[in-house]
Amino acid sequence: MISVFLGPPGSGKGTQAKRLSAEKKTPQLSTGDMLRSAIAAGSALGRSAQEFMSRGALVPDEVVIGLIRERTDQGDCAGGFILDGFPRTIPQAEALDALLWERHRKIDSAILFQIDDSVLVSRLTGRRTCLKCGAMYHIESMPPRQVDVCDQCGSELIQREDDREDVILKRLSVYHHQTSPLVEYYSKQGILSPVDASASPAVVFESVSQKLGFGRSA
Ligand code: AMP
Repeated sequence: MISVFLGPPGSGKGTQAKRLSAEKKTPQLSTGDMLRSAIAAGSALGRSAQEFMSRGALVPDEVVIGLIRERTDQGDCAGGFILDGFPRTIPQAEALDALLWERHRKIDSAILFQIDDSVLVSRLTGRRTCLKCGAMYHIESMPPRQVDVCDQCGSELIQREDDREDVILKRLSVYHHQTSPLVEYYSKQGILSPVDASASPAVVFESVSQKLGFGRSA
């Protein structure tokens, strides 16, 4: 099954994609994680992406399309995958449809994480991320066992540069202008399923699992 997780920054799509990926043994393809790895590795791609990311802008379409093209050709994607944070523009969605079509594949469902902007700002300013394994926490609603230490791998947790309030507001505006047209794009294809992303992570997980046809999780 190929699924797209669509929603504003902080709507929980990354958290849900990671959990589903682990439980259903399906790769999670996060362009944000791929770009942060490129930055951490100090590659030329990372250096050019950082300039866009630190100000909350989108990285150019051809860069992320190239990453997804390469990643989806890897063997572990043969049985399906979850796209988390890609596509984010209509040209990216069209490029994705075209590359899947070339491979005689298609997107099965697009999950829309619906939530108000007002909730997102507090969610994102309190977010802490593990740079090593990508695990995410919230200082109030999902704190790590030890302050600023990842429960999963013991690495230091950081506040992402783009989780500062001024950058968050820019990212939300980018979402409304450049990404939200995808709601109509996938709705027209008849594959869009909205979920209420303001509910608790456990409740959202149940809704997403049901929409994807996995039924209740154990
Ligand atoms: P995320 O971790 O998904 O919130 O992404 C963090 C940042 O990476 C975004 O604010 C963009 O600057 C960049 N990014 C991630 N995915 C994409 C994409 N599909 N298109 C363009 N930029 C992206």
